[in-house]
Amino acid sequence: MAKAKKVPNDPMAVRWAEKYSDSLDTGWSKLPSFVSKIVATIAICLLGLSINGEWLNISVHIAKQFGYFNQKAILEHWSDIWEKRFANLWGFWLGAVIVSYTIYFVIGGFLHWYFYVRQRDRPEEWKCQPKKWLSPELELHEILFGSFTLLVNSSASALVSCYISNGGYSTVYYNFGDYPWWWNLLQVPIVFIYQDYITYLIHRLYHTPFLYKHFHKLHHKYKQPTAFSVTAIHPVESLHIQSTYLVPLFVLPVHWLPYYAIQIYVYYHGIIDHSGVNFKAYWWQPWQPDAIFHDNHHQYFHVNFGFNCFIWDKLHGTYRRKDRIYTEDIYYGRGKAISEVTHEELDADIKERLSENPLAYRSNELDFKLTNNDLKSTNGSAKKAKSTKAVKAQKNNVNTPNSAAKKSKSTKKN
Ligand SMILES: [Zn+2]
Ligand SMILES: [Zn+2]
Repeated sequence: MAKAKKVPNDPMAVRWAEKYSDSLDTGWSKLPSFVSKIVATIAICLLGLSINGEWLNISVHIAKQFGYFNQKAILEHWSDIWEKRFANLWGFWLGAVIVSYTIYFVIGGFLHWYFYVRQRDRPEEWKCQPKKWLSPELELHEILFGSFTLLVNSSASALVSCYISNGGYSTVYYNFGDYPWWWNLLQVPIVFIYQDYITYLIHRLYHTPFLYKHFHKLHHKYKQPTAFSVTAIHPVESLHIQSTYLVPLFVLPVHWLPYYAIQIYVYYHGIIDHSGVNFKAYWWQPWQPDAIFHDNHHQYFHVNFGFNCFIWDKLHGTYRRKDRIYTEDIYYGRGKAISEVTHEELDADIKERLSENPLAYRSNELDFKLTNNDLKSTNGSAKKAKSTKAVKAQKNNVNTPNSAAKKSKSTKKN
């Protein structure tokens, strides 16, 4: 179905997805839709588990649950730690790295094929920013950079799982009967809220000027994120987040099963949120923002810092507002009031708003599209004239033209 001519600008498709596109498409379309949905969900979960090497930690806890790895070498000296608690580390490391890379490329490649190759000719049906694509250079950059951070995080997971398997200290328990029923239930919201709120705070911290320029900006090279962007984070920041996620395993009595169920949920949404696809949260996730929420974060930079709960942004005033503009130069999450922006800023912002996909919003409309009323607050007659032009463009759902030539072309788009 997807021929080479449909994907002329996609280097990844040329290299490894396009080659098998036709046969993949034939096979995939034979599957009943509920089967393909289940397969896709499992594939995304597996990818999520591979990106930080969490699959290895889960494997160690499963083994411990069934009586393996329960021998604990006694430490006679602190200097014994390396020898006794990190025995067989290289085996863990090699396993973590090989499996993580295999899953990252096989499943990441599959997801890329499924949307970015197979449906590349109809982005308005599925893409959060259907008029814009990551350049081939940036696609390659996110995969190379993402692969490096994946190596760092998988190595950290190898250390933790090796330590736990050799009887290292942790507060994890394996028998639900060891704690009252209410604690078995209560630990789920406690761990989830702790991890999500701390990630919001860390993310917001990395959006302050110094940390942004030196670390987090790398992740924001991708204004149109794809699933491969998830691991394309500066390793310092990535290890920072990974280590805060691990804290409950060492300070709270947590059963490994609910703890890792939460991790699967978090990583699953990490991929969904970066996919660039207009996924919506299910009815049973009233706390969970849709994928467009984080896609907006990549498009507008310093806004919508949360991940799995939109409430933190609402509480702290960093939730995207219609009457504000947000750019890479406007820090701290509150944007700039439309009444204070320049002509150029307003024009550029309207263009951005129009490049979004209405289907990515619950209303199936562009929730942030500016109307004449919204633009009344802008000062100056010149500004008003520009605004009128911009609003007209919005009505036609086209990009705001910068020049007369562009203007005449734009009416042909839909
Ligand atoms: Zn960010
Ligand atoms: Zn991101």
